[in-house]
Amino acid sequence: MKCRVCGGTQQPTNTDLPFKTGERSIVILKSLPVLQCPQCHEYSMDDPTFRRVEEILARVDSGAELEIIPFAA
Ligand SMILES: [Zn+2]
Repeated sequence: MKCRVCGGTQQPTNTDLPFKTGERSIVILKSLPVLQCPQCHEYSMDDPTFRRVEEILARVDSGAELEIIPFAA
């Protein structure tokens, strides 16, 4: 997939990403499979991954300020 920022070729990789789920709550998903640009580090997710992220975030306890969840595809 082409990078939408610099036009470089994005490579599949695993990374940990924080997602804000509320005013004070953050969820960190570990080992998330993403496509990342080696030039500018812009990343993107494919649709199945993004849907799974949304599923996980929807189940998170919004009372927790910080939660770390391993992403299992
Ligand atoms: Zn790029």
